[in-house]
Amino acid sequence: MIINHHPFQVNQHGHLEIGGLDTITLAEKYGTPLYVYDVAMIREKARTFVHTFEELGVQAKVAYASKAFSSIAMLQVAKQENLYLDVVSEGELYTALQADFPTDRIHLHGNNKSVEELTMAIDHNIGCIVIDNFHDIDLLTQILQEKNKKMDVLMRVTPGVESHTHDYIMTGNEDSKFGFNLENGQADAAFKRLFQHETICLKGLHCHIGSQIFETEGFILATDILFKTLAKWKENDDYTPSVLNLGGGFGIRYTAEDAPLPYEKYVKELVIAVEHHVSKLDISMPEIWLEPGRSIVGEAGITLYTIGSMKEIPGVRKYISVDGGMADNIRPALYQAKYDAVIANRANKPANNHVTVAGKACESGDQLIKNLPVPEVESGDILAVFSTGAYGYSMASHYNRFANPAVVFVENQTDKLVVKRETYADVVRNDLSYE
Ligand SMILES: *Cc1c(COP(=O)(O)O)cnc(C)c1O
Repeated sequence: MIINHHPFQVNQHGHLEIGGLDTITLAEKYGTPLYVYDVAMIREKARTFVHTFEELGVQAKVAYASKAFSSIAMLQVAKQENLYLDVVSEGELYTALQADFPTDRIHLHGNNKSVEELTMAIDHNIGCIVIDNFHDIDLLTQILQEKNKKMDVLMRVTPGVESHTHDYIMTGNEDSKFGFNLENGQADAAFKRLFQHETICLKGLHCHIGSQIFETEGFILATDILFKTLAKWKENDDYTPSVLNLGGGFGIRYTAEDAPLPYEKYVKELVIAVEHHVSKLDISMPEIWLEPGRSIVGEAGITLYTIGSMKEIPGVRKYISVDGGMADNIRPALYQAKYDAVIANRANKPANNHVTVAGKACESGDQLIKNLPVPEVESGDILAVFSTGAYGYSMASHYNRFANPAVVFVENQTDKLVVKRETYADVVRNDLSYE
């Protein structure tokens, strides 16, 4: 039996399984709240992107956007799958180094890269830096000169396409903290500084139009706009890009309302769009780079919670409270993100009641799911929230001094702890006495 379009099974005890293991056993073994990942599913998503490019015979790099979920074990899986890796900070780069991720496969992003971050990236000979602004060019020029080194870069531009999940908006003169504006001459000015630069090698352009996108039009429109600029640069300076990075943002299923496209379809349509412009411009096909984050890990992860207090407000609603919430999943409070869940120990029971799942933080807004259909619930039951693999653990906080939950990987019917649950000693580790 498959639950609400989610790819997980229910066993003969009526318990939800992940990767062939009983979630109730996992909750007992590791405690709750607990993040659990089906690693085979992570690998399958990664392979879909990589294989589609291979089938099409198109040179490509698929870089996992590690901000979605960065941990040593996760980056080891990404390495095993021959992915490249996006990092946006010293901390993410440090994690990649700890995972022994090949540094030439690492790309650095960020709209305010520090001297320390750029230095660390250059010292470790990472593969590419995505230049976001003029400050980046100044700092990078200076550091490369001091170190007598060279660096491959992409230039991040804002094509003025904003994808909003089910539609896209042409903003023209885009207001974004990221990248160079294509309309107002900033991208051209940056190109002038980077073209034939002594130590910075401009490989091509980068754009990332948004996240949780369910259509291909936004990507294709962005490609059209990038090529308008590329046509101009070819005509004026005979510049041709060797790389085109079209970012990430491929949608996943959080609830039954979400209907993500197969990732093959995004890849195929993007390749067709790029090939069309390439033949029109009469240049050779650039490498295509993508940066999926959510689509690699989102659906592979679930969070297990123990249900504690329950409260019925007659005629209004029934609350069930769990032992986690906004500290381990900020997305509902931050942007009204919707989730689906089951009572993992009653996963085969008809769900005839509706409850609101509240977190335990001291915020009224700490509610994970509104109006979730459930069977009869008892205190002590285990709630499994689906599709929490992206931007859950990576956005976890210590609000209310909650300790960050553990992370368990499941593969080949075996469970392995990959991030330990924090202790309260961990939580106060950096506190110093004032008496
Ligand atoms: C966040 C981000 C991604 C990944 O986005 P997803 O929606 O997780 O796929 C890729 N590229 C850039 C530049 C990003 O900022």
